[in-house]
Amino acid sequence: MMKLIFLGPPGAGKGTQASIASKKLGIPTISTGDMLRAAVKEGTEIGKQAKSFMDAGKLVPDSVIIGIVAERVEKADCAQGYILDGVPRTLAQARALEDAGIRFDHVVSIETTDQVVTQRLEGRRVCPDCGATFHTTSNPSKVEGVCDACGQALIQRHDDQAETIANRLKIYHKETEPLKEFYQQRGLLRQVEDTGSIESVNGRIMAVLGK
Ligand code: AMP
Repeated sequence: MMKLIFLGPPGAGKGTQASIASKKLGIPTISTGDMLRAAVKEGTEIGKQAKSFMDAGKLVPDSVIIGIVAERVEKADCAQGYILDGVPRTLAQARALEDAGIRFDHVVSIETTDQVVTQRLEGRRVCPDCGATFHTTSNPSKVEGVCDACGQALIQRHDDQAETIANRLKIYHKETEPLKEFYQQRGLLRQVEDTGSIESVNGRIMAVLGK
């Protein structure tokens, strides 16, 4: 059983690192961003509530997030644990998880800089179908604009445009960064530097997990 949180600003590589760790550990990644994007695409009630916040780079209200996470962690595939990617993002969300009796083994904080993540987000391209991510210069798809995994046309996320990125970083520092202190106090914080290759960051993550 291993329950993990991957923490860090947008563009820190949480999704990329969670997907690698997820395969190695045999536990699913739960990304609230992916779940919300799917809800927006399907036009569900939650999707309708979330869309305007997401497009503006603002946080979706805690009550919505807490509901979708509580439901997701009850599914059968979470029996051996899971990685939370992009949640909790506020102290209220962290407290709600704790109040629901959920205890984590490690909180991995990917340490990086605003400058690095801004460049990364501006160049990020994603597959709207399978969720694979690429970067125009550091991790280009084999054929420009086309997903390597499924052949779909790649897109730039609405919220990866320059104006929205600055807003998301501001919100990260104000709302999410205090979670480091919260989990530090509980002895769970594992800080990992975001330098070098994707593989080397993964190596450092596996090391702090004792794997
Ligand atoms: P992400 O893919 O994690 O960058 O999330 C994309 C967007 O979804 C965020 O900018 C928020 O609008 C929303 N979102 C995802 N996770 C959360 C969360 N835990 N709390 C509030 N909003 C969230």
